[in-house]
Amino acid sequence: MAPTIAPVRTFTELPASTTVVIIGAGIIGLTAALTLAERKIPVVVLEKGRVGGEQSSRNLGWIRKTNRHAADLPMAQAADRLWAQMAERVGVDVGYRQAGIMFIARTEAQLAMHENWLKSVESVGLDSQLLSKQQIARHVPHGQGDWQGGIYTPSDGRAEPTLACSAIANAAIAKGAVILENCAVRGLTTSAGRVSGVVTERGELRCEQVLLAGGLWSRRLLGNHGVNLPTLPLTCSVLRTTPMEGPTDIAVGAPDFSFRKHIDGGFIITQRGKLDAFLTLDHALLGTRFLPQLKAQRDFLRISLGKHFFDDLKLGRRWRADSVSPFEKVRVQDPAANNELNNDALRNLSAAWPMFKNAQIAQAWAGTIDVTPDSNPVIGPVARLPGLALASGFSGHGFGTSPAAGQLAADLLSGHTPFIDPAPYRFERLA
Ligand SMILES: Cc1cc2nc3c(=O)[nH]c(=O)nc-3n(C[C@H](O)[C@H](O)[C@H](O)COP(=O)(O)OP(=O)(O)OC[C@H]3O[C@@H](n4cnc5c(N)ncnc54)[C@H](O)[C@@H]3O)c2cc1C
Repeated sequence: MAPTIAPVRTFTELPASTTVVIIGAGIIGLTAALTLAERKIPVVVLEKGRVGGEQSSRNLGWIRKTNRHAADLPMAQAADRLWAQMAERVGVDVGYRQAGIMFIARTEAQLAMHENWLKSVESVGLDSQLLSKQQIARHVPHGQGDWQGGIYTPSDGRAEPTLACSAIANAAIAKGAVILENCAVRGLTTSAGRVSGVVTERGELRCEQVLLAGGLWSRRLLGNHGVNLPTLPLTCSVLRTTPMEGPTDIAVGAPDFSFRKHIDGGFIITQRGKLDAFLTLDHALLGTRFLPQLKAQRDFLRISLGKHFFDDLKLGRRWRADSVSPFEKVRVQDPAANNELNNDALRNLSAAWPMFKNAQIAQAWAGTIDVTPDSNPVIGPVARLPGLALASGFSGHGFGTSPAAGQLAADLLSGHTPFIDPAPYRFERLA
């Protein structure tokens, strides 16, 4: 069962016009809407299902700089500052805690990856540090694992995805944003060579600019307009325990499990070493673009061909604006949790920290991420469709950077000087 978010006071009437339309009420669309509303720019967010119903409420809540691409670090550092101010900004504690993140290595090869990453970001001046096995035991006591070492960033942290989604949505609404649920956008309208509105299942909405923040659906919507956004879906399973005593407040990632403390005193656990890759037509169409990633992650992926392939085909890739779109057919992408992977994670974790042998599972779920060939998102204009900007492809690590990503998207839409360099996120790099 997927996590649910606290109710949001959304609207039911579709306005006739606005300045900015945002497609998708995930954490990216919501943080962009909050920023625009704070700047008094009229904004309407259209969500095919529920606010935060897909990736944004299902993620682990890690807010990390550790192991990010160097080019992505300025955004992660800006996001840290924005998370620290979030409770004051939205008037609710969203569970942000700067409790640190640690990755631990079982083999020399795994440790070398962390060492190489640390060298590659030396000039950034992060507080990340390598740890010996003894230091790991001091930070995370009561363990029995045999670690080669690890890497630890005390200024990394976590927040609660469900609290963040509802609080940011409610704050955006309080500041003037309009959010509609169950309102799928079927496509874009253009006039004089520019995007001039959207067609929804409830009618048309005119606007000056559109931000597409549709997560794993952005590729399909753009595809219907002849634009190729190369993203592939991967599914990750998660479990939450009931409140229990744990070894640390630090979020810990090992090669075959991870855990972090939940605000209610339980733990969020996943099998870090495995993701489900349910093959779709897109894997065949885009596979070669992802070969370097596939080679590096071969052991991580559980590739399967079956029902998903045909379900995805049935959804269709071309439709007319006056007919039902794929977005109405799947209101909320809700994959079944892979209990085998979840049990694996809990078993591996219990072997390393035996206090987890008594863990009681309260909830299990899965979510599907949208991965680009270089694992970085696209945030910026789409040259072939003037008036459209994109904020998608967050590749499984967009919750942590979301306040900064949303602000960058809002800067680009409202003509502000971008508060961080948008160059690493240009769409054209994936052309
Ligand atoms: C299991 C899991 C664990 C993760 N762990 C972490 C983590 O620890 N840290 C981290 O930083 N990131 C993590 N992530 C990634 C993170 O959750 C995502 O990068 C982030 O939530 C992406 O937000 P989004 O708004 O782009 O996408 P989404 O949350 O998927 O939102 C997109 C929204 O757009 C809507 N939509 C799409 N098309 C249309 C349309 N045509 N009309 C109307 N609405 C539409 C969808 O219904 C959806 O609600 C994890 C993800 C998963 C699944």
